[in-house]
Amino acid sequence: MNLEGDREEEMRIRVVVRKRPMSKKEASKKDEVDVIHPLRYSAYGRVLVYQPKTRVDLTKEIETLPFAFDNVFAENSNNMQIYDETIRPLIPGAFAGRWASVFAYGQTGSGKTFTMMGSTLTGIKAKNQNVKHDENYGLYVLAARDLFEFASRKEYSHLKIGASLFEIYGGKLFDLLNNRNPVKCLENHKGRVCFPGLSEHPIRNADELMKLIEAGSNNRSTGSTSANRDSSRSHAVLQLHLRKTVGKRENVEHGRLTFIDLAGSERGADTNKASRTTRLEGADINTSLLALKEVIRALATGDSMTHIPFRGSKLTQVLKESFVGKNSRTVMVACVAPNITNCEHTLNTLRYADRVK
Ligand code: ADP
Ligand code: MG
Repeated sequence: MNLEGDREEEMRIRVVVRKRPMSKKEASKKDEVDVIHPLRYSAYGRVLVYQPKTRVDLTKEIETLPFAFDNVFAENSNNMQIYDETIRPLIPGAFAGRWASVFAYGQTGSGKTFTMMGSTLTGIKAKNQNVKHDENYGLYVLAARDLFEFASRKEYSHLKIGASLFEIYGGKLFDLLNNRNPVKCLENHKGRVCFPGLSEHPIRNADELMKLIEAGSNNRSTGSTSANRDSSRSHAVLQLHLRKTVGKRENVEHGRLTFIDLAGSERGADTNKASRTTRLEGADINTSLLALKEVIRALATGDSMTHIPFRGSKLTQVLKESFVGKNSRTVMVACVAPNITNCEHTLNTLRYADRVK
């Protein structure tokens, strides 16, 4: 295999860890300490989780082998750096007809939405004034800007870009760009997954995408009749489609980028909670995150597609198309909080991310 080929192979599944900074509130508490220490080695990254006083590495205590990731990002990293290391190398592939998926995994409050949407979209002002405005765009917009840059080239002028945004909540799909309309997920006899009723919106630039996402995200967190609804209990899925006309067939899908802001990983543990709804939702999230791990692991081993357990959950069923094919690419950004209080959840996230590959 040539060098390009090796690089391609290496990009098939990437797992990176991102540590967020301490919040002001956390930093002001006396008993809060930063116990997460990302380390870079030449070819991979590692995360140490310290026992605060003794400085024993908890990741080592629990596992026989240290966790290793494709990269780790410390609290001073910005979205652009994450983008450069994860999605940017996949953009040419999308124009070559490949499908890629990017997941943000982690407990609620670990920085998943910050990574995907950025501080600009979520309306959070950059606390650090030295951070350039651009660096606070999330992966959605950074990817869209590059997609449109490519699409403006002559050789790609036949490709159009469309966006859909939906959430998977309690095993059901809701269209966030169309009044939370319920959407079905069906598989035809050829094994192709389709979403009858899901709206797709043509977009001409990254700004248009931002406006769509802004409207859609409001639907996710507040546009609900149930007081119980909470975005940490749903998976948000953004799909950017590259479409072309082939002969008389219009809007044939050429390439696809899928972004998944997963439900809070700690919600999977809600299975003991008193309320029946919470318990069921917790079980559902648990099932979907476990199924996702199994699917990515199966993909990593390169076994035949027939053994991959897509039907294990709604999430993996929905994403099946994005995974299928030798040419698909998968990136996971595992988000962790820095403080001691969240240490258990952080260890769980690192374990999960480590086992994915
Ligand atoms: P999640 O989506 O995983 O529940 P959020 O992305 O909403 O978490 O992040 C929780 C809080 O932490 C938000 O106020 C967010 O602005 C802040 N935050 C997360 N990651 C970062 C970061 N890398 N830099 C600065 N603030 C961050
Ligand atoms: Mg979030």
